[in-house]
Amino acid sequence: MYQTEGMKTQLDLYGRLGKYIEIDRDLQALDSIVVKEIGDEFERIDGVRLVNQAKVLKAMREEGLAESHFVGSTGYGYGDAGRDITDRIFARVFGGEDALVRVQMVSGTHALTTCLRAVLRPGDTVLSVTGRPYETLEEVIGIRGNAPGCFKEFGIGYSQLDLKEGRIDLEAVSGKIDNSVKLIFLQRSTGYDWRPSLSIADIEKAIAYIKGLKKDLIFMVDNCYGEFLEDREPLEAGADIAAGSLIKNPGGGLALTGGYIVGKKEFIDLAAAALTAPGLGKECGATLGITRSFLQGLFLAPHIVAEAVKGAVYASRVFERLGFEVSPRYRDGRSDIIQSIKFNSKEQLLSFCRGIQKGAPVDSHVTPYPWDMPGYGHQVVMAAGAFVQGSSIELSADAPIREPYYGYLQGGLTWDHMRLGVLITLQQMKTEGLISI
Ligand SMILES: *Cc1c(COP(=O)(O)O)cnc(C)c1O
Repeated sequence: MYQTEGMKTQLDLYGRLGKYIEIDRDLQALDSIVVKEIGDEFERIDGVRLVNQAKVLKAMREEGLAESHFVGSTGYGYGDAGRDITDRIFARVFGGEDALVRVQMVSGTHALTTCLRAVLRPGDTVLSVTGRPYETLEEVIGIRGNAPGCFKEFGIGYSQLDLKEGRIDLEAVSGKIDNSVKLIFLQRSTGYDWRPSLSIADIEKAIAYIKGLKKDLIFMVDNCYGEFLEDREPLEAGADIAAGSLIKNPGGGLALTGGYIVGKKEFIDLAAAALTAPGLGKECGATLGITRSFLQGLFLAPHIVAEAVKGAVYASRVFERLGFEVSPRYRDGRSDIIQSIKFNSKEQLLSFCRGIQKGAPVDSHVTPYPWDMPGYGHQVVMAAGAFVQGSSIELSADAPIREPYYGYLQGGLTWDHMRLGVLITLQQMKTEGLISI
């Protein structure tokens, strides 16, 4: 067959790649099969990406974003036009009346806690209809441990409706709603759980149904890891307030810290009072020159998230082909960027996390060990060789050290990095005799 020089080099991809990473013939074969298999998924992901890019672009154009907005402020931060336009752009993108996007929110947990503080008062109860909330929130609410200042201490109650076969148990909701229930809490992502993420359609259906049971309920969504997975966001499905972390999806890998809250204006005003002080609200809070990275990060976020999702789809199919149970499977719908893999032993799990660390651009020489991370109820091992500390929109893996040995993989600023990270990990696991390919 006639071949051009270009075709020959294309065929020799693994040969050229072999100059930079070790990848044996069995792995090459696996990689090449999987990349072909997942092509249709990539097309679907590109569609979501394009729509979300258009959404972000429209918000920035309509708000008239300009170079002057990137200047930033110091001190109290009064009159910071860049901060205010950032809030308005986030509000448009997430379908809210208003937003609070702040460097002063130290994490996703802080943003979510600020929402809860905003609306809950002594005597109120929060009802989680998606089972156990994310681990760090258990301490915030007072479900686990006795952290000083937890909601329990303020007489705020908590009740929980467990998922039924991974779905919201709508039939059982009415039994959980009494007069004290003020806020319904929904978590979009799986967090550290082996379950499907909640789709926007699931959220919409649940909110519509529960609204029919009691008036004046406030619906709050933990949107961490879910941003830009679909064309719509929780507020467009009936939620009143939603929050997340800027070192996950919506920061696009560029935001260096921070959190966001979006929602109805009255709740954003309350959240601002809860974050700063009653009476100060949204008007305070210096941006210290970080506005450009927040907005450039948001602009890139639809693309970066699509890269991470492609990586997750690839990892899902690779590990499934190697005989591991995975959640979600590569063709399943996804409403978060997390890929869960069930390992057979602690050794496999640790080797997996160490392989991901080894494949990181930063701290690749570091060996992750299980540790008692603040806010978590058991030991956790984390592979995070990121440019931004703890950023999980960058390729990262974490796992609670307990049976069954689930490993959670997420992020990847480029899908190529996820591909390389997985290949490096597999090669290591194979060398250690922990998997056969
Ligand atoms: C990451 C995460 C959080 C907490 O965010 P941090 O920034 O780690 O505090 C809360 N909920 C879910 C679902 C998450 O994925």
